[in-house]
Amino acid sequence: MVNCISVLGSTGSIGRQTLDVAQRLGIPVCALTAGSNVERMEEQCRAFLPRLAVMATEELAQALADRLEDLPIQVLSGKEGLLAAATMEEADTVITAVVGMVGLEPTLAAIRAKKRIGLANKETLVCAGELVMAEAARWGAEIIPVDSEHSAIFQCLAGCRDMAQVRRLILTCSGGPFFGKTREELKYVTRADALRHPNWKMGAKITIDCATLMNKGLEVIEAMRLYGLPLEQVSVVIHRQSVVHSLVEYTDGAVLAQLGSPDMRLPIQLALTWPDRTACPAPELDLLTCGPLSFDKPDVETFPCLSLAMEAARAGGTAGAVLSGANEVAVGLYLLDQIGFYDIPALVRRAMDKVPFVAGPDLGQILEADRLARESVCQNAGG
Ligand code: NDP
Ligand code: MG
Repeated sequence: MVNCISVLGSTGSIGRQTLDVAQRLGIPVCALTAGSNVERMEEQCRAFLPRLAVMATEELAQALADRLEDLPIQVLSGKEGLLAAATMEEADTVITAVVGMVGLEPTLAAIRAKKRIGLANKETLVCAGELVMAEAARWGAEIIPVDSEHSAIFQCLAGCRDMAQVRRLILTCSGGPFFGKTREELKYVTRADALRHPNWKMGAKITIDCATLMNKGLEVIEAMRLYGLPLEQVSVVIHRQSVVHSLVEYTDGAVLAQLGSPDMRLPIQLALTWPDRTACPAPELDLLTCGPLSFDKPDVETFPCLSLAMEAARAGGTAGAVLSGANEVAVGLYLLDQIGFYDIPALVRRAMDKVPFVAGPDLGQILEADRLARESVCQNAGG
């Protein structure tokens, strides 16, 4: 069990569930970081009394500091604040629950400070997975996935002594709110339709990613990086019930799966207690009522984001950063009702065609690819 945690992105969906788990387990919290939600951050600071609180901008940090005058909590802002929270001395574990590329540098900083990383921020591994995993190996920092599929795989691999004995990883995918729909039907779906996920309640960006299936594409790359496997050894199967969280097929044909009710507190808690387990507030799985369990092939014609992600996975280099950066901006525009559903893959495609590819990139080249991808989407979104 960990002694003290730092939660990056504490006001979000994963962040709040992390604090719920920490409170139940009695784990102290030494740093909290948020983007813009000052009100929720004040509540969390009063409830958890961290030593450090961070907001995205100086203005928001000042607003928080004004509200927290009566408490001995240091308030910082921006990247400097995130890095301070990620490397805080008393934290032995850092939960990376910010959304998007902003999580990359703090994650690298936490790794270099030898923290255990409870990794929810999948964009980090999509953009710079090779770099992140190499740094983790170099500094001996443990990365425990929080994403439910990767937590399932992590658990199914627990007894595996040699990755050569793994034939493939099988990621399950709920199919999102638009499973079974045609391309024609999806042309005019609204953001409200896309935000209605059948099984999980999550932040807005990942919910849209689930509707386009980009989320599963990002998760394929996340799995490749976490477990050092090529694309050919990672497959995706649609599983509407979100009961089987993912599977590992071994070379002898044995297939191991982790099942559970769809509640992120289970994988979050595991990242805090591993290798131990303890009671969790997630509802128990009732095998007599959770089925029947179905498995289908993903429809990559209707959901082209999945193929784009596969293409980026195959290319490696800066392709993941371009895919993820372009997608982040496109999803942001979709959430503002400025573009349509199929503009998301179209804009990602254009960015992938336009931004120069770099093999084996360093951090600077990854950040530059991300910047160019974002620029490409902004330039093309209007026309
Ligand atoms: P949310 O949108 O709910 O939360 C995101 C958090 O990041 C909030 O605390 C937000 O602050 C903060 N944030 C946003 N932008 C910035 C910024 N520019 N600088 C600093 N902080 C920022 O997202 P989720 O919790 O759903 O997802 C978090 C990560 O976990 C994502 O990478 C997602 O893919 C992954 N994940 C999420 C799952 C889920 O069930 N939700 C499941 C598996 C993975 P504020 O709200 O104050 O603006
Ligand atoms: Mg997932």
